[in-house]
Amino acid sequence: MLAAAALSTAVDDVVVLDRDDLPDGPEHRRGLPQGRHAHLLMAGGLAAMEEIVPGGSIRERLLAAGAREIPLGWGMVALTPEGWFRRWRHDGPRMLSCTRALLDWTVRAAVLAHTSAEVRKAHAVGLAGDAGRVRGVRVATADGETELDADLVVDASGRGSRVVTWLREIGVTGVRERTVDSGLVNATRVYRTPAGAEQFPLTIVQADPYGSRPGRSGMVLPIEGDRWMVSLAGTRGGEPPSDPEGFLRYALDLPSPLVGRLVSGAEPLTGVHLSRSTSNVRRYLEKVTPWPEGFVALGDAVATFNPAYGQGMAVAALGARLLAEELRRTGPTAPGLARRVQRGAARSVDAAWAAAVGQDVWYPGTRGARPGLADRLVTVYSRRLTRAAAGSHRAATALWDVTSLRAGPERLLRPDTLLDVLNGPLLPPLSGPPLTAAERKIVQELDRTEG
Ligand SMILES: Cc1cc2nc3c(=O)[nH]c(=O)nc-3n(C[C@H](O)[C@H](O)[C@H](O)COP(=O)(O)OP(=O)(O)OC[C@H]3O[C@@H](n4cnc5c(N)ncnc54)[C@H](O)[C@@H]3O)c2cc1C
Repeated sequence: MLAAAALSTAVDDVVVLDRDDLPDGPEHRRGLPQGRHAHLLMAGGLAAMEEIVPGGSIRERLLAAGAREIPLGWGMVALTPEGWFRRWRHDGPRMLSCTRALLDWTVRAAVLAHTSAEVRKAHAVGLAGDAGRVRGVRVATADGETELDADLVVDASGRGSRVVTWLREIGVTGVRERTVDSGLVNATRVYRTPAGAEQFPLTIVQADPYGSRPGRSGMVLPIEGDRWMVSLAGTRGGEPPSDPEGFLRYALDLPSPLVGRLVSGAEPLTGVHLSRSTSNVRRYLEKVTPWPEGFVALGDAVATFNPAYGQGMAVAALGARLLAEELRRTGPTAPGLARRVQRGAARSVDAAWAAAVGQDVWYPGTRGARPGLADRLVTVYSRRLTRAAAGSHRAATALWDVTSLRAGPERLLRPDTLLDVLNGPLLPPLSGPPLTAAERKIVQELDRTEG
């Protein structure tokens, strides 16, 4: 839908093909299995959406529908591998927390109301054209196949995209692919927000990639409808279970029991849902020369990332914004448009890939990558930066800018950040979560694990 919004600014007829029935409201759907799991929208992704989705602020519409805005400066309690992050008086970047169903519906409703884009239920099965130019899409029908002509085709079919096969079928070969798989399993359960805990901060216990053990993490996200979405995740050998008792035990056994204590007294509204679609997969489409005219792939069709880092939607949105910018700059039929978009979109993919793979490479069960010298050097730097960020607002801001995809990784090499990394944290490490007295009382009241 973001690509459709981008295209609508430059062309008359935009057709979105989806094999799924797209619901007429904020509902989960089969074609988006990951939608049952936590979907935090980072500030950089939201900014890109604001620029391309027509009809007024997406943020405001999401907030009006109950989404929660989390200022990273004080609205989050987080245990990192380098200790608890302090909370500050300043907001910092904000991320949005709501169900994926609400986000998708809000974007889809805006795009369909304010552009001439139309949605057709159809299963795309390949490309029409040749290695020089894509001329349309092949679509499966009850009687076989039909072709839909198009001047520009965007593959936004997600993690399961068959883009490499489709390109090969029209004569474009040699696409390099890479998979780095930590074997992460995500387990998610939704609870009713306990009375009195409506303003409790988003709580995260991060996984530790550096302990030579499987990574185990957990988080409690406030979402619309006065609910908490609780997501646990473990890499190969440390996977969370799908039974409710095991779910709670896993949360309590994390490096801090805070997530487990919070949910031990909360009322579950769903069972536990598992996802294993979590590997980092990259298709280096931007390296293919010559690249066919008339074809672009965006979002998960190009690269997927371990979802623990919350980057996929933002990368997809940044790709769509780049498409909009290129269309504005050169128009839809300019030669080389598709190649420029594919290469430009690779920049945010590169940054997200480096962040995800740079950590996943350390888990003992990870397949597809081993830490090399460059990983070791980058890791020494990023661990020192995280340690500094736990006790320095300026260092924390640098880290947030990059994890929020508001800035590229070069932001971490600014002289003031280098200085923070050298000097370390200004304040001493915290011995426990930075909760206010009122928040501690909420935890105590909810905790059913003691005594
Ligand atoms: C467990 C989990 C948690 C995640 N958490 C986060 C998070 O916190 N933050 C974040 O930013 N990202 C997160 N992600 C990543 C995020 O889900 C993806 O990056 C994002 O959905 C990519 O968008 P997309 O449009 O490329 O693909 P998708 O959102 O997967 O959409 C693909 C669409 O294509 C349709 N389709 C597929 N094949 C065809 C076909 N052949 N013909 C027609 N239609 C087709 C599907 O029905 C679907 O509508 C998470 C992912 C997982 C697995």
